[in-house]
Amino acid sequence: GTHAGNDIFEHLESEVRSYSRGWPTVFETASGSWLRSEDGKDYLDFFAGAGALNYGHNNPILKSALVDYIMKDGITHGLDMMTTAKRDLLETFERVILQPRGLDYKVQFPGPTGTNTVEAALKLARKVTGRESIINFTNAFHGMTLGALSVTGNSMKRAGAGVPLVHATPMPFDNYFNGVTEDFQWFSRVLDDSGSGLNRPAAVIVETVQGEGGVNVARAEWLRALADLCSEREILLIVDDVQMGCGRTGKFFSFEEAGITPDIVTLSKSIGGYGLPMALTLFKRELDVWGPGEHNGTFRGNSPSFITATEALNHYWTNDELERGTLRKGERIHQTFMNLSDMFEGVSTRGRGLVQGLVFEDPSDAQKVCAIAFEKGLLAETSGPSDQVVKLLPPLTISDDELEYGLNILAEATAKVRS
Ligand code: PMP
Repeated sequence: GTHAGNDIFEHLESEVRSYSRGWPTVFETASGSWLRSEDGKDYLDFFAGAGALNYGHNNPILKSALVDYIMKDGITHGLDMMTTAKRDLLETFERVILQPRGLDYKVQFPGPTGTNTVEAALKLARKVTGRESIINFTNAFHGMTLGALSVTGNSMKRAGAGVPLVHATPMPFDNYFNGVTEDFQWFSRVLDDSGSGLNRPAAVIVETVQGEGGVNVARAEWLRALADLCSEREILLIVDDVQMGCGRTGKFFSFEEAGITPDIVTLSKSIGGYGLPMALTLFKRELDVWGPGEHNGTFRGNSPSFITATEALNHYWTNDELERGTLRKGERIHQTFMNLSDMFEGVSTRGRGLVQGLVFEDPSDAQKVCAIAFEKGLLAETSGPSDQVVKLLPPLTISDDELEYGLNILAEATAKVRS
């Protein structure tokens, strides 16, 4: 071709590309918490595939299960046929995840990605209740297809879509008013008021920690009050655990700590374990009103993902080592970020488990910190409505030394930008 080397990206790939701009190098291989560029430079990965790589890149345990499966000509594409790979996954998911938590969910394979499981959740909630509108939250992120985008709160992300497809009414997320506690009394009153003009909603969709929205952490009491409101009013509660599920906050499900049981749960990103596409929609048994074929999709049955998912569940979720490590390492990041916020004006922090945000009053500081980090060999991403939060999402399997190495880079970068 006439567009040699890296010019091909600019020439042929749409302007919609994003990560390639903040990290302008061509990556080739990855192992554990590290990516390597084609010119041989190593980058510590504090982003982990936007939460899709909780067990690290090319995790050796998952890799050997995958290679074995491929070498024996295991099925890669099976629509939603019954396969041994799917049977093992379902059996393992029930035994390792659902039963010990007393959860009686049915499992749907809605398609390959997070946005597919959100679509299925919204459709199911509408079908079950016969109602159409959805309550979402300020700064929510649920995906980029037209339905999921309708319940997403970021106007930049929504800009391409015009009129939302799903009627969504946003409520303030916990702490939206900076420390002023909001309960749901006002909302109950609006629901009861026949003059309010509010359509009775089918469901509320919520993230326990808003990842894309800027690491906004909902308190357990707030989540419980929301769950109570939903059950009193017969509104279905959907917890979108696409980013915070699979151990990110320290528990397999991010809502476990609050002691709530959502009606519908979405999972994707790290459920496949190896960075291969996979998504699950979980819902209470009595909500399974789907008729055969009502939510189809060619890539519902990615068997290689089932193999790595099963291996990850058996290896990481049959003991509490990963959970304890996640909380300990999260605490380590929190301490470092607290020190930085004590040392520098205009810097604060918030997070839970291994999702921690370093929040800058001036968004351009967050951009600068990430740019310096990249130069020093560290990948970290910004999030939030004005990209003012440096969001840390390292693999849960990261070593203490690697974590320390990355935190030092971030501390140096923050010092350089803020002093
Ligand atoms: N829900 C949440 C909470 C997410 O964080 C994301 C992805 N960032 C999605 C849904 C959409 O997932 P995907 O990008 O795989 O479609």
